[in-house]
Amino acid sequence: MDKFMKIAIAEAQKGIRAGHGGPFGCVIVKDGEVVGRGHNEVVKRKDPTCHGEVMAIRNACKELGTFDLSGCDLYTTAAPCPMCRGAILWANIGKVYFGCNVDDTDSIGFRDKIFYESEEDFCEELDRDACLEVFEEYRNIKEKRNY
Ligand SMILES: [Zn+2]
Repeated sequence: MDKFMKIAIAEAQKGIRAGHGGPFGCVIVKDGEVVGRGHNEVVKRKDPTCHGEVMAIRNACKELGTFDLSGCDLYTTAAPCPMCRGAILWANIGKVYFGCNVDDTDSIGFRDKIFYESEEDFCEELDRDACLEVFEEYRNIKEKRNY
C-alpha cells in the first residue's frame, strides 16, 4: 500500500471517528515529504467548503507560506469533487492520486455525481460594467505590487 495514501486514510478515519464529516482524508506531498494534511470538516465547522482537499490545501499553504503549491502532489481517499478540482487547479498541484471513485462516493450518499451530470446553469451576468471598474483598479494596483 502507498505510504501517503495510508496517511490520507488515517486522516479520514480520524475525521469520521470524531464526527467531523464524511470519510475523506487528504495529504499533500512535496519532494517526498508531507507538507499538508486534512480531512472533511463540513459537519464540525458547519461549512460546505471544508472538504478534505480544501483543508489540506489550506494546511500546506500555511506550512509553506505561499498560495502556490507547484511541485506538490495530492493524495485523497476519494476522487475530488468539482469544487476541489478547482481548488487543486488554483493551487497549481501537479498530480492527484485518489482511492474511491465517483460511483463509490455516490454509493454512500454523496451527490458529486449529479454535479457532473447537471446541465443546469444557475449563473447570470449582472452589472458587468461596474464590476469591470474594480478589475481596472486591480490592474493598476497589480502593476505597483508584485503578485
Ligand atoms: Zn470536494
